[in-house]
Amino acid sequence: MKHIPRKRFGQHFLADTAVLDAIVRAIDPQPGDALVEIGPGLGALTQPLLERCERLTVIEIDRDLAARLRRNPALEVVEADVLTVDFRALSEARGRPLRVVGNLPYNISTPIAFHLLEQVDAIADQHFMLQKEVVERMVASPGHKDYGRLSVMLQWRYDIELLFEVPPEAFEPPPKVDSAVVRMVPLPKPPAVEPARLGELVTVAFSQRRKLLRHTLGRWLEQQGADAAFDLHRRAEEVPVHEYVALAAQLDSAAP
Ligand code: SAM
Repeated sequence: MKHIPRKRFGQHFLADTAVLDAIVRAIDPQPGDALVEIGPGLGALTQPLLERCERLTVIEIDRDLAARLRRNPALEVVEADVLTVDFRALSEARGRPLRVVGNLPYNISTPIAFHLLEQVDAIADQHFMLQKEVVERMVASPGHKDYGRLSVMLQWRYDIELLFEVPPEAFEPPPKVDSAVVRMVPLPKPPAVEPARLGELVTVAFSQRRKLLRHTLGRWLEQQGADAAFDLHRRAEEVPVHEYVALAAQLDSAAP
């Protein structure tokens, strides 16, 4: 039976074989890899991945699509909302860090990125199709208009690369936005910092990105009782990731 795409699950199915080939080449799956695909849908990416590896775990929320996928015995189908999935448990079951891939539902792509960030120790790498605008925010450098909370929170923990852009016509039905494929590789030795503290710091810093930090972060640092040697005569978008991380680590060590 023909599947009618469900808007609430962000269903835009990849139909361009050249794009699919390029994604599989970028992932470069190897036989022993612990591959996990988020949102396999009708299996456009799932099939070529299965040709390159023996086993594949797929996470799909749509009950009808999950039922179709279960017909393939080579797939381990997890019928669930990806935001509730325990990736550490999946990694333990496979005995190695996971390679997570997917053409993600764009409406929840940022929550998915943060859900994985919380479990990044279970991840070998991530390859995702996302809204181009979101990828641009992920990879943005200081001084760029797209540099913000998402850039800092992800670049602190990952090496991130925009691989290529994909136009709406590659999908059925086409989304209203441009897309891009991103590679995210966890850094081997990230600086130690409490993610919640870094998150809070960056949220305050970027709350009014046009203002000098002394008006936003300055007051907050005072409230924390922090005595930080940090140049507040800058805007949030001018401060490099490592400085935010160093400041958050300093606050960590000062915390009671
Ligand atoms: N991978 C397929 C392709 O490229 O043709 C489908 C991609 S489509 C953009 C997103 C997929 O994610 C859909 O199959 C949708 O049902 C699924 N999905 C949406 N929300 C989800 C969630 N919270 N958890 C798991 N899967 C979800």
